[in-house]
Amino acid sequence: MYKHGIIALLLLAARNAAASCVHNTSLKPRAEDGAVPISTFGYTGLTGPFNWAGLDAANIACSTSRTQSPINLNSSTASKLSTRPTFSFNNVSSAEFENLGTTIEVLATGTTTISGKAFTLKQFHFHSPSEHRIDEEYFPLEMHMVHEAADGDGAIAVVAVLFEIDAVDATQLLKAVTRNIDKIQRPGSKTETAGLDFAELTAHLRNAPLLTYQGSLTTPPCAEGLTFIVPQKPMPLDVDTYRKIKGTVKFNARYTQNEAGLENILELGCKAVDEAKKAAPEPSSSTVESVVSPSASAVTATGTLESTLASTVAHASSASPTTTTTSCSSSQSASPTAAAEDSVTLVEGHHCIAGACVKRPAATAAKVRRRSRWERY
Ligand SMILES: [Zn+2]
Repeated sequence: MYKHGIIALLLLAARNAAASCVHNTSLKPRAEDGAVPISTFGYTGLTGPFNWAGLDAANIACSTSRTQSPINLNSSTASKLSTRPTFSFNNVSSAEFENLGTTIEVLATGTTTISGKAFTLKQFHFHSPSEHRIDEEYFPLEMHMVHEAADGDGAIAVVAVLFEIDAVDATQLLKAVTRNIDKIQRPGSKTETAGLDFAELTAHLRNAPLLTYQGSLTTPPCAEGLTFIVPQKPMPLDVDTYRKIKGTVKFNARYTQNEAGLENILELGCKAVDEAKKAAPEPSSSTVESVVSPSASAVTATGTLESTLASTVAHASSASPTTTTTSCSSSQSASPTAAAEDSVTLVEGHHCIAGACVKRPAATAAKVRRRSRWERY
């Protein structure tokens, strides 16, 4: 029952995702004309992970869920797979290679069977630096192989492969993938890889200890219910390939989340802000003024953090439309409601919740102007 609820939530939320980690699955199908979608979220400032929930109500889980990815993997947060899955990926002479703006993605096919349940490989894409860490250590590159349940129940499994810089060895699959990477420097562009041979990768997955845990999408809408499988040992990465990938994706790693079951980091951050406000003198009027001012240069560091947190948790708020405080404590309850929608006051180019306004990224502001109230986010 619980699992079905999670999957339903995943289905609902992921359909709103733009070029997220589940692109090319039934949750976020490819465009019929083959156009490469460009992500509307990012990794910097107000489009970044601290404000993903502020970009779209469908991203509520990013700021409230207690089962989020990525995490630091250790003996208390992940378990070793006792029954090893089977992996079978299809070698090809070339594959479509796309720049989604927030990652680079290869369309691939294959099957991974986990405890008798078959999952179909849909695509793999890259994060640099790695999103997951092992015993606190990060790695320069992580590859997410996104699978969808073959029985159509909507379950998603991600094989997350870590790579470490190696002065001698290289993973030939990565060299083949990036052969034409110079042709997809522009978001929305696509090219073809060289021939892809998965034998080296498959051998690694068959021999390395495998860690597993239940997590979430590491991109908006941060929906729960994903099964992660992570080889405990990294594969080799040559410097030239690493530079090619890093130079294209720039930076696309979400910050490390709390352990499963523990409070969402953003909600904890809001509590800390509230406590600090209680302990500190009343902010001067000039500070409040700077938060609501469109002039980014006038925003103080404190104002920026506070307003970003308020914006980030905004869609979790159950505050009534008449609420006028900006306390982060309004984030402690529940799910996106009509009341929460109504508490949003639109100011051209700004995202305003209960009186706190932050400058909205241009693309998002434009989207608000085009959509009706119920389609607003
Ligand atoms: Zn990913």
